[in-house]
Amino acid sequence: MPPRRPSRHTGTSSALRATLAIFILLGWAARASAAEPGALPVAGLQQTVNSLCARLGITQQVTVTLVDTNPRVVSMMPPPAPGDPFSLAVQTDFLDKLTDDEVTAALAHELGHVWVATNHPYLQTERLANDIAMRVVTRYSLSRLYAKLWALTGAEADLTHYLGPEILRVTRHYAAD
Ligand SMILES: [Zn+2]
Repeated sequence: MPPRRPSRHTGTSSALRATLAIFILLGWAARASAAEPGALPVAGLQQTVNSLCARLGITQQVTVTLVDTNPRVVSMMPPPAPGDPFSLAVQTDFLDKLTDDEVTAALAHELGHVWVATNHPYLQTERLANDIAMRVVTRYSLSRLYAKLWALTGAEADLTHYLGPEILRVTRHYAAD
């Protein structure tokens, strides 16, 4: 998810780590008691990915995996060989911090990279991936996602660089007659 540049990982205090660990444990406990048999989180993520692919016109196969650690937190790997699927990896503890909208935004961002890789491979940037993502998710959900990502990694940057300027969107309401 973050751009490919040296990490400015400032470290998380051990107290915060302990707190996060507790939250994760609570999250898993709640999930274990509420989940239907076989309703693994990754199945829901895969379903969302498939739906987003259809909406974005992506015909390549994309496989989601949950991982304990991911240096980029959420990432997309190109197919190792032609015909193989793209691999979208999500760090589990980050996923647990996100609302449904933010999860969808994270997946849409990574699928933005797939879209760029298959349509304009030499133009691969975070900004363009987000431009594609904003065909199906809001700028607001992406901005919330970046806030949580930077809270986790200790990195910070200008949101406009990643999402472009915020544009006032005017919605016209027509009479229903
Ligand atoms: Zn990215």
